[in-house]
Amino acid sequence: MTDTLNPPVRPYADDSPLAYLMDLADQAHYVPTDDEQREDAVTTAAHHIYDAYHSTIGQVLDAGDWRGYPALRPSGFPEFEPSAVAWLDGGLWLHHTLRTDINGAVDVLALVVPCTCGQGYTDIVLDTEDDLLEILADLRATNGRSPHDASHPDCHSVRSVRAL
Ligand SMILES: [Zn+2]
Repeated sequence: MTDTLNPPVRPYADDSPLAYLMDLADQAHYVPTDDEQREDAVTTAAHHIYDAYHSTIGQVLDAGDWRGYPALRPSGFPEFEPSAVAWLDGGLWLHHTLRTDINGAVDVLALVVPCTCGQGYTDIVLDTEDDLLEILADLRATNGRSPHDASHPDCHSVRSVRAL
C-alpha cells in the first residue's frame, strides 16, 4: 500500500529538538525579498545616522528621507550590498551601505558630490561628524562641487569606496 507520490510523514514532533534545529537551518538559508532588503537598508542607514551623526545629518534627515535599494549581484562583477541614499539638494547625496568582513558588518557612509567638470561624481567616505563638517567647509568655496582632479579622472565612472 505504498504511494510514492505522497511525501513521507514528518517523523518528529513539532516541538522536538530536531524541529527547532530544522527551523534554524531554514532561516539561515532565507534570502530576504527585494522589498525587505530596501526596508532593512533604510533602517540601517537611519540607525547609523542616529548613532554617529546625530548632531549634524540627524538634525535634517530622518528615516523617511532615505530610499533603499536591494543588493546587486551582477555575474562577473563584485557584489553590491543593499544600500540607501538620501538627497541633500544641490546635486549632493548621502550613500549608506554595510561592508561585511570577518569581523562583522561595518557602516560605510559616503558623501556623493558632483564634480566641477560636470561629468560625474566623487564619493567621499565619511568617518566622523568632524570629518563631514571639514569636507563641507572645503566644498563651500565651490558651492558643493568637488574640484576635478585630472590625475584621478575617475569622477566619470562609478567607483567603489576605498578599502577599509
Ligand atoms: Zn571631474
